[in-house]
Amino acid sequence: SADLAMYHSKESGRNQLFFFEPQMQQKLKQRQKMEQGLKQALANEQFHVYYQPKVNTLGHVVGYEALIRWQHPEFGLISPDSFIPLAESTGLIIDIGSWVLEQACEQIAKFSAQGESLSIAVNVSQRQLTRTDFAELVSTIVVNSGIDPSLLELEITESMLNDDLENTRQKLTALSQLGITFSLDDFGTGYSSLYYLQKLPMNVLKIDQSFVREFLTQETDYAIVKTIVAMAKALSLKVVAEGVEEQEQYEALVALECDFFQGYLFGKPSPLS
Ligand code: C2E
Ligand code: MG
Ligand code: MG
Ligand code: MG
Repeated sequence: SADLAMYHSKESGRNQLFFFEPQMQQKLKQRQKMEQGLKQALANEQFHVYYQPKVNTLGHVVGYEALIRWQHPEFGLISPDSFIPLAESTGLIIDIGSWVLEQACEQIAKFSAQGESLSIAVNVSQRQLTRTDFAELVSTIVVNSGIDPSLLELEITESMLNDDLENTRQKLTALSQLGITFSLDDFGTGYSSLYYLQKLPMNVLKIDQSFVREFLTQETDYAIVKTIVAMAKALSLKVVAEGVEEQEQYEALVALECDFFQGYLFGKPSPLS
């Protein structure tokens, strides 16, 4: 049974009636609650950065990927897939993204103080990248942290590169001149345009986990993984395989000359300190 809801339309200045399925109404309420909570979450220290190890062909940890988590007082630990889109549409991603970057740089500084040269990869969202002051925002955080910029890697996805490539190129080039490196995340799930690879200062391709998951039993997936690795080699890019869960997958990926590996086999994302 649908409920009637009253809604005061700002445009018409009149009250309008809408039908809401109770489920829909509940979803809407939850979304509003999430949005309210998200606005306060940074100040309330409800975000945490988890770190997932990245290993080389010898199984040695060479760095980590920073992955945000939201510890919600009512809903518990919320994964980024459930709130990053909301953070994007509300613009809150700008402050949240800067915070993650600060945390990651702090962690790199900690490693360096311990004499460990470990890199950290940070995911960047479209809304951050399209800001005109993106390069300034990032470089300020990096310079203030005092880290070696080459230990910071920024992950962007193909789907973010649709519009104004020249603008994006200029921002990435400025940051790469500082020493910051770039990886193309979830590679293979978007347009996988070689044009992007030709135009942008990319260092790393991350093969999406959807290709890795069953590549030992699905011939097509195997061919795709093999092709991505070969292409990356030809373009002097490093390759990371995501979602490596089994030893057999790891060994086969090493045989294919993949450079780095990430997945539950080596460690789930978790707090570092
Ligand atoms: P991503 O950047 O592609 O990150 C990899 C995701 O795969 C992570 O999910 C990670 O926990 C998961 N994963 C790693 N190894 C395995 C495995 O062996 N098996 C399986 N099934 N999954 C594995 P998570 O942490 O839930 O993050 C999801 C997405 O949210 C990320 O995808 C990224 O796009 C986004 N994200 C996370 N943190 C941030 C952030 O700080 N800022 C922005 N803008 N986006 C973020
Ligand atoms: Mg990533
Ligand atoms: Mg990915
Ligand atoms: Mg992803």
